[in-house]
This record gives sequence, structure tokens and C-alpha cells, in this order.
Amino acid sequence: MFSLKDKVALVTGANTGIGQGLAVGLAAAGADIAAVGRSAPTETQTAVEKHGRRFAFIEADLSSSAGVGDIVAKAEAALGPVDILVNNAGTIKRNDALDFTEEEWDAVMDVNLKTLFFISQAVARSMVSAGRAGKIINIASMLSFQGGIRVASYTASKSGVAGLTKLLANEWASKNINVNAIAPGYIATNNTQALRADEKRNAEILGRIPAGRWGAPDDLAGAAVFLASSASDYVHGTTLAVDGGWLAR
Ligand code: NAP
Repeated sequence: MFSLKDKVALVTGANTGIGQGLAVGLAAAGADIAAVGRSAPTETQTAVEKHGRRFAFIEADLSSSAGVGDIVAKAEAALGPVDILVNNAGTIKRNDALDFTEEEWDAVMDVNLKTLFFISQAVARSMVSAGRAGKIINIASMLSFQGGIRVASYTASKSGVAGLTKLLANEWASKNINVNAIAPGYIATNNTQALRADEKRNAEILGRIPAGRWGAPDDLAGAAVFLASSASDYVHGTTLAVDGGWLAR
């Protein structure tokens, strides 16, 4: 029920952090991986190939959604039709709302929300035109549920991801495409380095996590395998928190 044997998964931002953990977790469950991003994912490639799976790198800067059709075509030329899309690439800018710039707004919204939508559309068009079923997994955030502070565009984008996940599920469930999201809690990656380096914020965050530790990218793999596999065939439009209990507090 949880096997991904010979499925093809396109994972954005798979060179590091959560995307790397997800790509390797999907490969361990049997999927071949098309990694999309602007930095060479050499470590991820080695880990995926250790599981005996195929790996392709499609170089792309996701700050523009202009090339998404090409990205999907290249992934399909390399590995075959995409069965699973993981929209993981994301970025964050921190600034007081009073000082927040338009550039800080656009830089985050473009990668986290606009490209996520158009790459989902490109993959879904391919699935629908061939009559194939598929799975789309968006990476949301605690700030899909909460407001956060000093991260206006990030909160807007991740709240948007939760909304879009529901909208796309509503439109595509009848086409056998499951669209869901995973909302990671506080995971130790580049994205959260500034928080972990700030002793006060680090202690505040840890004090609120029932599990008593930061998450690791591997902690998200099980949820991704579930949402990518037939085990979740009747799950549509949900945002699954994997947060050590953070939201339960
Ligand atoms: P990360 O280590 O900084 O990884 C971010 C990934 O996104 C990298 O692969 C990065 O590529 C890629 N990316 C960013 N901008 C890009 C662009 N313009 N074009 C192509 N790729 C781009 O951070 P992470 O924590 O693993 O983040 C992964 C996802 O999880 C993000 O959507 C983030 O918002 C979300 N998330 C993280 C946490 C957490 O606690 N860490 C919590 C909730 C949600 P480069 O290496 O080339 O920059």
C-alpha cells in the first residue's frame, strides 16, 4: 500500500534540507527522482542511487514560473511521466512589517506560491491529458495556520499554499489527482539557521515543542510516502502537520 516502486517523483529544491530528506525518503520507497533546482544536488543523487533508483537533475531557477512547462518536459524525457510532484522549494525574508520592501514580498511570493501553482498546473495538465492518476504534495508551514512575526511575505505565501491545496483538490480530485500538503514544524535546515543561532528564540521554540527537539528532514519522509502512495487515495485537500506536537500546544 505504501510502495512507490517505479513511480517518478519530481521534487523541487532537493539539494538540501527538507527537499533532500523527502527525495531520499521517496527513493527508499521505490521512486525515481527528478530533482529540480538551481544548485547541483550531488549529495541527494548519491543517496537516491544507493537505493537503486534513477536520478535526473533539471537545473532551473524557480523565482520565475516562465519555464515550468520545459521543466516538466525535461523530467519526463529523462525518467518518464511524472506520477508525484513535491513542491518543496521555498525561501524566506525577515523584516519588520513597517519596513518590508516590495522586493522582499515578491521574492518570496514568486517562489513559494506563484511557481508552486504553475508547476502544479503543468504536471496536472500532463496527467490529465494522458488520463493518469497522480499525487501532488505541497510543503506548507506552521505559518499556514499561525501569523508569525517579521515574515509577512512568508506567512502570506504559506497561508496561500494551504488555500491552494484545497482549491486544487476540489478541482482535481475527480481526475484522480490527490493534492495535499505537509506542514513541517521547526526543522533544522538552512531556512531556520538564524532562529537556531538566536539563543533566546531557540529556547522559546524548544520550550513549546512537546517532542522536545527540533525536527530533522527525515522526520517528514513518512508523511510524504503516505501522501505519494495509494495509502492516501481518498485523502484530498488536507494539510498534515508534522511538527512534534507544536500546534497541539
Ligand atoms: P533550505 O535548506 O533553505 O532549502 C530550500 C530549498 O529551496 C533549496 O533547495 C533551495 O535551493 C530551494 N530554492 C529556494 N529558492 C529557489 C529558487 N529561486 N529556485 C530554485 N530553488 C530554490 O530550507 P528548508 O527548510 O529545507 O525548506 C524547504 C521547504 O520547507 C520550504 O518551502 C520551506 O518554506 C519549508 N519549511 C521549512 C521549515 C523548517 O523549519 N525548516 C518549516 C516549514 C516549512 P538553493 O539551495 O539553490 O537555495
